[in-house]
Amino acid sequence: MIVRDIQDIVERWAPKQLAWERDNVGLEIGNPHTTVTGILVALDVTSDVVKEAVSKKANLIISHHPLLFKPLRSVTTTGGAAAVLREMILHEMNLITAHTNLDFTFGGTSFALAKSLSLQKLDFLRKPYQEQEKVVTFVPAEHVNRVASAMASAGAGVIGNYENCSFRTEGTGTFQGNSQSHPTVGAKNQLETSSEVRLEMIVDSWNAPKVVTALKAAHPYEEVAFDRYPLANYHGGYGEGVVGELEKTIPLAQFLKEIQNKLKVKALRYVGNPEKPISRVAVCGGGGSELLLEAIAQGADAFVTADVRYHAFHDAAGRIALIDAGHYETEQPVVYSIVKKLTESMETKSEHLRIEAAVTSTNPVRYYS
Ligand SMILES: [Zn+2]
Repeated sequence: MIVRDIQDIVERWAPKQLAWERDNVGLEIGNPHTTVTGILVALDVTSDVVKEAVSKKANLIISHHPLLFKPLRSVTTTGGAAAVLREMILHEMNLITAHTNLDFTFGGTSFALAKSLSLQKLDFLRKPYQEQEKVVTFVPAEHVNRVASAMASAGAGVIGNYENCSFRTEGTGTFQGNSQSHPTVGAKNQLETSSEVRLEMIVDSWNAPKVVTALKAAHPYEEVAFDRYPLANYHGGYGEGVVGELEKTIPLAQFLKEIQNKLKVKALRYVGNPEKPISRVAVCGGGGSELLLEAIAQGADAFVTADVRYHAFHDAAGRIALIDAGHYETEQPVVYSIVKKLTESMETKSEHLRIEAAVTSTNPVRYYS
């Protein structure tokens, strides 16, 4: 497998188009055509993580946080992202990042956190409207499978757990090429009729241009007829934060203890009555304070996130138990989700590639009490 294959697996799960505009995701460092010798997954890329990858003979690191975010002025040994970049290049290391695209995808950062806290009946906390379109084209019957599979490879025709979904109707197309035309069927300046199949597939709007490019490349005609129809369908695969239920109602004090144990966090900051019964819980891995009102609106008894500002605790007081469980601690579970996703994907492809979570902790925060 080459780096590009692994990037495709990651981005079919967490499409990079979902990422915030100012984010930096995808292949950050390396050569997409390099054969992968092993994969190390970490929340961040540090010098220790690079050393761990080298010692494990892994030439691909997958990180949640981007290494290259701010412009670099120099690439020297004096520390920071530039020094790590230099080290990676010296070791011919590759780096793929899945950041906010992984936060907004089903099974991503907040789902991993929710599962670590044993929440059940999980759903997105906020579901921004995800537009979808229908892409329709007209193809001679002998080419319809090729066109449909090219469109599917570009991401069309996914409905829930089903891929390659399409609908096909036979009909008759007519066309007349002018003197500059080079018709695949018939002759120029002549009205032609041709048996064609109307092929239609659903696509996510952000992905429609890629699907149309694939459609045109696979279609036999000189001028490809296609239509894009906007739909009112909702795509349930992407959203922000997660809400779920505890198996049984417990007091906040006990829930705090469980968070501490399950996320291995040394200290928690929180607001709420320790006796308050907790059953419905909202979570957002990393800094998710902007989802506080949504968590309250969704009837959550508690909201677990990180990087919570002082005033957010005031906003939450008396309305919801708000718990800051640490940025690293609330996001680290997704590292294991990435390992699991890639391992499962390798199994279906009968590939044997060593994929593991880095044992090097990348949390720079220490707790003093
Ligand atoms: Zn983060």
